[in-house]
Amino acid sequence: MRAFISLDLEGLPYIVSREHLFVKGALYGEARKIATEVVKTAAEALHEKGFDEVIVADSHGPMVNILPEAMPEYVELVRGFPRPTSMVAFARGSDAALFLGYHAKAGTNRATFDHTYSGASIDRLEINGVEVSEFLLNAYLLGSWGIPVILVGGDRRLIETDVREFTPWAVGVPFKESPSRYAAKSPAMTKIKSMIREGVSRAVGRLEGGEARPLTAEEPVRVKVRFLRSDMADAAELLPFINRIDGKTVEFEAKTVEEAYRVFELLTLAAAGVSAVVTR
Ligand SMILES: [Zn+2]
Repeated sequence: MRAFISLDLEGLPYIVSREHLFVKGALYGEARKIATEVVKTAAEALHEKGFDEVIVADSHGPMVNILPEAMPEYVELVRGFPRPTSMVAFARGSDAALFLGYHAKAGTNRATFDHTYSGASIDRLEINGVEVSEFLLNAYLLGSWGIPVILVGGDRRLIETDVREFTPWAVGVPFKESPSRYAAKSPAMTKIKSMIREGVSRAVGRLEGGEARPLTAEEPVRVKVRFLRSDMADAAELLPFINRIDGKTVEFEAKTVEEAYRVFELLTLAAAGVSAVVTR
């Protein structure tokens, strides 16, 4: 059996400062160690439960956060950004997926680093009329490939909202409780590790019991994107199939979830390009 893990940073325990999030940040070394410990613990627990292959997609920022030398032999590590199907690259063919270090969607209160996919460009993302977190976006794409999400470890507010509502079969492991955007309370790392091991055990039990199922979205897919600025919507509108709704909002229809995801990726890259051009 093959398991897939997508790792983000903002929902990991102890990650509260912007200095944790960037390669040149003063606390980036600490963040890398935390990310590596969490992923390694989950991979080991999955291996003990019978998964002989674990694909880990390092999925935050430049996507080179995990320390490769710490990975066990049965892990394959996906690194680097940008890449097609970004946070779920190389998931196809897996039997189950886990999200670690995930955070709540943009605009959520009491949630560390609330944002959706790109804090620099995206204010709101809707799939078929539902406002989604990046967790939910990724879960829909995995679902379209037949892969169920079995565990989500991250910010408590994400687990209480999108995970509970859309993938109630997934085990939630709350790594942090946030009183505000830049603060959180987390258990000790030894406790976090036992929570992950216990969570993986329960999640695999539910998978084997047939409770976990792929999350599906109706196709064709309607996608609505509200950017932070109108120049980003100006760039998006250059694509002939994109409709402009208002200054900051565009919408489009895609044949499949994967097509929707790929176009959305392109729009965020275009928004980053516009930002680079206008601030030069
Ligand atoms: Zn991130």
